[in-house]
Amino acid sequence: MTNSDTILALATASGVGAIAVIRLSGPQSIEIADQVFKSVKDGKKLGDQKSHTLHLGHIVKNATILDEVLVSIFKNPNSYTGEDVIEISCHGSLFIQQEIIRLLLQKGARMAEPGEYTLRAFLNGKMDLSQAEAVADLIASDSESAHQIAMQQMRGGFSNQLQELRQELLNFASLMELELDFAEEDVDFADRKEFELLIRRISGVLKSLIDSFALGNVIKNGIPVAIVGKPNVGKSTLLNALLNEERAIVSDIAGTTRDSIEDEISIDGVAFRFVDTAGIRNTEDRVETIGIQKTFEKIEQSQIVLYLVDARELDAKQKNIIVKEIEKIKEKHQGKRILLLINKIDGVEKKSLEDLFDDMEPIYISAKERIGVDQLKMELLGLVNTGKLSNNELIVSNSRHFEALTKALSSLDEIRIGMEQERSTDLLAIDIREALHHLGEITGEVSTDDLLGNIFANFCIGK
Ligand code: GDP
Repeated sequence: MTNSDTILALATASGVGAIAVIRLSGPQSIEIADQVFKSVKDGKKLGDQKSHTLHLGHIVKNATILDEVLVSIFKNPNSYTGEDVIEISCHGSLFIQQEIIRLLLQKGARMAEPGEYTLRAFLNGKMDLSQAEAVADLIASDSESAHQIAMQQMRGGFSNQLQELRQELLNFASLMELELDFAEEDVDFADRKEFELLIRRISGVLKSLIDSFALGNVIKNGIPVAIVGKPNVGKSTLLNALLNEERAIVSDIAGTTRDSIEDEISIDGVAFRFVDTAGIRNTEDRVETIGIQKTFEKIEQSQIVLYLVDARELDAKQKNIIVKEIEKIKEKHQGKRILLLINKIDGVEKKSLEDLFDDMEPIYISAKERIGVDQLKMELLGLVNTGKLSNNELIVSNSRHFEALTKALSSLDEIRIGMEQERSTDLLAIDIREALHHLGEITGEVSTDDLLGNIFANFCIGK
């Protein structure tokens, strides 16, 4: 990828729409657009127009008018990418979109790679790396809180603060390096007391950002929930009831893959994701007893376990088995929240069950009749103490950032230990460089082609 290329992509979703937007970015954007665009108003070339203006005209191919379009001009450096950008809003037919794209390719543009616009924005200093990543999060955000976190990160969020702290650390690092240059003279340029305070301050900020990841991750990725239980207790039916689908998954055609997002519900803005729903849906996968490996794996991947039993099969003996199995799960998977759900309470005498299970606080439901499903949702919400996001709370939701922050913190710990043990300046300097490196990785002050490639490959084309 070189920035001397002019790139091209459809910025709107692929398919037919009222309008479609085709975007060009790069040094030849305006010149390429001028080769195919004829203004209907003043007949002026786009190259002679001011930045941030809109122009009505025709896209012309071999003297034939392809479409009437609106062209917007953003001259460098005042554009999303920092380069010359042209946006052509055309009518949204697939034929028109394809013809215009083909024509622009002929005139010298090339198709953009995934995320290439945002990559250029980053390389041109329009945003730092964590802001660029937030653009992808923003597009993918499907709940209010995920959206809020992405917006905050895109506006600079914690990266501004990290950049400032990194700069302070960098200043100290330079003073330390200076000491190394004057090693024979045995002078201290860097005030050790002040340095220690700075390290403590940065560590404090990093710690709270690292802690925020538990919440950030949940908000971004949803809380994983496992539904477990013997065959025919009603797992699929419950899943349906929760996902609020009309059509029965039980009768789904085998092998139809479903987008994972479809197995998510949002309760009061918090996403709950049901793990291994394919396993629930696939009858052959169903296990005779809970406790076999597959079920444990599923529990392992979740934070909340819905342990489903059939009300019609319950007696004192069954209860004992259930108590033991729940204990076993708790022992094997510490920290998981387990909800005992007694299903199929339609058509059974509830009173005797309530007496029997008095000490276990189960939730009584009928997945089929949708009884108790709302109460279950409230219980789910109650289990996750997300606390409402406050407006200014800085939250890390990106696992790459989490890792870099954790590494930076451990370098800072090393520095502190080093100072306590009065290690030599050159040894301290190594840990300081490490910390600077990891902090810089978050904002992109330190980046490698591999890192950038990984990040931007996950973007959509046209962003
Ligand atoms: P799974 O094997 O655990 O996924 O169980 P299914 O969801 O396939 O349900 C097994 C059978 O129990 C189906 O015939 C369902 O209609 C029935 N069933 C599920 N939930 C209820 C319920 O709340 N009440 C009654 N009466 N039947 C239910």
